[in-house]
Amino acid sequence: MLDALPAGARLSAGVVDGRNVWATDPDRALDQLDRIVDRLGAGRLTIAPSCSLLHAPYRVSRETGIDEEVRSWLAFGEEKLDELALLHRALQADAAGRDQLLQESRARIASRRSSPRTNDHAVRSRAAAVTQADHDRPAPIADRLAAQRRRLGLPLLPTTTIGSYPQTTKIRNMRRRRRAGDIDAATYEDFLKSEIDDVVRIQEELDLDVLVHGEPERNDMVEYFGEQLEGFAFSAYGWVQSYGSRCVKPPILFGDVSRPEPMTVSWWEYAQSRTSRPMKGMLTGPVTILQWSFVRDDQPRQETCRQIGLAIQDEVVDLEAAGCAVIQVDEAALREGLPLRGEDQDDYVRWAVDCFRLTSAPARPDTQIHTHMCYSEFNEMIEHIARLDADVLSIEASRSGMELLEVFSGFDYPGEIGPGVYDIHAPRVPSVEEIEQLLRDAQRYLTVEQLWVNPDCGLKTRGWEETRAALRNLVEAARRRRVEIGQPVPA
Ligand code: GLN
Ligand code: ZN
Repeated sequence: MLDALPAGARLSAGVVDGRNVWATDPDRALDQLDRIVDRLGAGRLTIAPSCSLLHAPYRVSRETGIDEEVRSWLAFGEEKLDELALLHRALQADAAGRDQLLQESRARIASRRSSPRTNDHAVRSRAAAVTQADHDRPAPIADRLAAQRRRLGLPLLPTTTIGSYPQTTKIRNMRRRRRAGDIDAATYEDFLKSEIDDVVRIQEELDLDVLVHGEPERNDMVEYFGEQLEGFAFSAYGWVQSYGSRCVKPPILFGDVSRPEPMTVSWWEYAQSRTSRPMKGMLTGPVTILQWSFVRDDQPRQETCRQIGLAIQDEVVDLEAAGCAVIQVDEAALREGLPLRGEDQDDYVRWAVDCFRLTSAPARPDTQIHTHMCYSEFNEMIEHIARLDADVLSIEASRSGMELLEVFSGFDYPGEIGPGVYDIHAPRVPSVEEIEQLLRDAQRYLTVEQLWVNPDCGLKTRGWEETRAALRNLVEAARRRRVEIGQPVPA
């Protein structure tokens, strides 16, 4: 590659990765830099980050809440600049000088490599033992759907929501007060239970068929799980731009991932105890957890993802054992993880889909597995979506007026689908007629037995007034469609 450089041109060597949060291995970087100096001479070399530092948080040294060992493995923007300066000095030093300069950074790299936190033998041997058959449910989808119909007894065009209900100021305030220690754990728990009581009651009043607990205990669908899994750290100030003026504070996935304790089971049990309707269990899938975190760079992403998949599988198994008949594993970010280069896409989708399948493979045939995806242009990847082998898939199709569904009919898609009959991002209440029409349109592509009725994403950013009004119309539209089809719900 160096040969391709025009004579006299300067090379900016991006030896410090600008896209992640890990300290640079100085010996690896110097290896590259030494070779460049040999060929081009020091005068034609600039030592640089691999890209703008826009994607990195500002400064590790402020993150005193992160365990010291893990913190020593990190480099954010400011530390990356220090690394550049250090490499510059080391490049000019002799061997003894380098040993002295690099002592500290070599020690960090060594500690990261050998720490039990990046080498959890139980996790590694479990992941290594996974076979292709371990990704398969015990029965084909048609048999499963029949068993689920018998167990759940849902009407045609079942109604449900995607998981979260409005995260009100009250919920946010209580969360803040709990974090600050102003209220004790028991008070906070009682508050969350009363929120769940309200959400359950409202859904029963609305006459929804499959209920959710509303996720009041979760600030974020990835952070909530990361906080309970081994292998994750959380920064206090590690904000990065997501898009426009939006920022996110991704968890830092530094080590081997496992689930020491059930994460959602007691909330699910409480919520189910408040109703006789099916209460959906609600989990975030491994690909989305991976995609929305800063991920360790010392092993392939798919290895890391498989570990997360197994941890989520543990939760699926425990929910099922607790009696949960419907479990949703959200993969909001599956589509956005698609590599830009066409030739890398197949490989990514293959392992991403495998990791999803791993989460629900042991579930009984009559346990209904849902998944939800936010972006839903599946034309070029429909066979992969089918290979997820989810019993019910809810997607965002409302804005396209259901045309996105064409690909499912062309493919003879075997699962059930909730196309999303209104856009939760728009602050408007869809009318009954509008939703009825979308359901009619959806039936151009899907059979009535395949079709679910739900909003197109979670409702946490909406207010209660519009949420209630929209869901009232949604349930009424489903009811009218059932009557029109001639199969109203049995009384
Ligand atoms: N269950 C999550 C929620 O309802 C799903 C959110 C998402 O897909 N982005 O909020
Ligand atoms: Zn969504």
